[in-house]
Amino acid sequence: MKIKYLGTAAAEGWPALFCTCEACKLAREKGGRNIRTRSQSIIDDRLLIDFSADTYWHFIKNELPMDRIRACLITHAHEDHLYPEDFCNRRQYFAYLDGESAEYLTVYGTEKPVQMVRRATEGCAADRIHTQVLERFKTVNVEGYEVTAIDADHDPHADSVIYIIARGGKTILYAHDTGIFPDSDWEYMIARGLRFDYVSLDCTGGLYAQYEHGHMGTDACEKMRLKLLAAGLADERTVFCLNHFSHNGRAIYDEIAPKMAEKGFLVSYDGMEVEI
Ligand SMILES: [Zn+2]
Ligand SMILES: [Zn+2]
Ligand SMILES: [Zn+2]
Repeated sequence: MKIKYLGTAAAEGWPALFCTCEACKLAREKGGRNIRTRSQSIIDDRLLIDFSADTYWHFIKNELPMDRIRACLITHAHEDHLYPEDFCNRRQYFAYLDGESAEYLTVYGTEKPVQMVRRATEGCAADRIHTQVLERFKTVNVEGYEVTAIDADHDPHADSVIYIIARGGKTILYAHDTGIFPDSDWEYMIARGLRFDYVSLDCTGGLYAQYEHGHMGTDACEKMRLKLLAAGLADERTVFCLNHFSHNGRAIYDEIAPKMAEKGFLVSYDGMEVEI
């Protein structure tokens, strides 16, 4: 499987839209990997994860085959992960579809984000955008991927989940946005005897804002790595990557990437691809 990070920032983007802080100034000055758009990833160029307001730019920059993408998983109902109004651009006259493109796109998620998509597309693109509500801890087949939504330690009003995605003997844990995982996840993952090839962890707090609930910083991510290894859910072959950054964590890519490389973590940037 190939995972590509399209957007790697938290809600405000980095530099943040209206911000004058030092971390935002520095990101603007250094440019390149220090510029982060809102959250979105894609697996094998065909399974989208999240649909932020920066989806349009991700489509342009990465030449995404958006007309042919059949499935999009939504992690939760926060605007840096779901901007449902843009699904309406798939409606008649806004999108001319033919052949393979004419198939509908299905959006998968928990009840709240799915309801938001249904409301946004009602009367415009409902015939071209389908939805499916996922139950936590129940594995479903999504376009040939085994997908399981499990609990996130994140805003309960956003109906938040993280995803286990498996295909062809490889398993990814995509854990944004979340703090230290709740016990329900550990029990489930251990009972299933999972072993992750790739773990993408929330690192909103970066090096300097150390969160354990709602989001994580580098300390919490290091704890999580050790806990996953101790539980046998990961081993020395597992690739760990930090993702979803905010200016509140202050360390721009150029600072955090070398520090965390020493500790065995990749640090995501917009456009980064990892093959597992
Ligand atoms: Zn977020
Ligand atoms: Zn800032
Ligand atoms: Zn969130």
